[in-house]
Amino acid sequence: MRGVHSAVDDIRRTVFKEVAKLAFEGGDPRLLDQIPLKMIQGEVAKHRHDVFLERAIVEERVRLALGLNIRFAGETIPVSEDLLSAEKSQKHFQNPLVNIIPFACNACPPKQLRITDNCQGCISHPCMNVCPKDAIYMDKDKHCHIDQEKCIKCGKCFNQCPYRAISKIERPCAAACGMDAIKSDELGRAQIDYDKCVSCGMCLVNCPFGAIADKSQ
Ligand code: SF4
Ligand code: SF4
Ligand code: SF4
Repeated sequence: MRGVHSAVDDIRRTVFKEVAKLAFEGGDPRLLDQIPLKMIQGEVAKHRHDVFLERAIVEERVRLALGLNIRFAGETIPVSEDLLSAEKSQKHFQNPLVNIIPFACNACPPKQLRITDNCQGCISHPCMNVCPKDAIYMDKDKHCHIDQEKCIKCGKCFNQCPYRAISKIERPCAAACGMDAIKSDELGRAQIDYDKCVSCGMCLVNCPFGAIADKSQ
């Protein structure tokens, strides 16, 4: 996905463009609060369940473009109210640099390996032979399954099946993170462990929902 232009890039660029335009032209800071409405018009959502969520996500992106902290659902401070602190010439952003917008996160399923209908129940069944946890079994219809209680997600079976019958799904943000810094919050959404995070931004560029953004200044 990385390197392929997408709607996520368009949203990111348009937010930067709108914020830069307002900064350049000056004028009423309250115009910042209008950016989400300007970008997400009408009543029909394009990418999410509804336009209100799309606007809320854009609003958080506007905040981050100004170097402000993200808000959490329930907080109602307008962006313009925080503008004065953001426009000081020597303001340094507050950590964290890389932020997951919680309500923008799709709570993608954590890493899991599954055996699909492509399984032929072959006599060699290399998947079973390489599994270090004896987690794969074949049913009476000669179809293999993975016991998720036993599976340690090593991926050895995935690499062995000659029919590509084993699928591996993984959160794109977690898969991209070399520091193993992505965990889950109580709602199953991705959350960054800032004790491990080195702000490399790999999760940001790999999230297909555009739920992760960094602070600008
Ligand atoms: S890839 Fe994006 S949407 Fe999916 S879990 Fe990670 S942060 Fe959330
Ligand atoms: S991922 Fe590893 S532990 Fe899980 S079923 Fe495949 S080989 Fe076994
Ligand atoms: S990918 Fe980089 S920025 Fe994202 S959580 Fe991991 S270390 Fe932090």
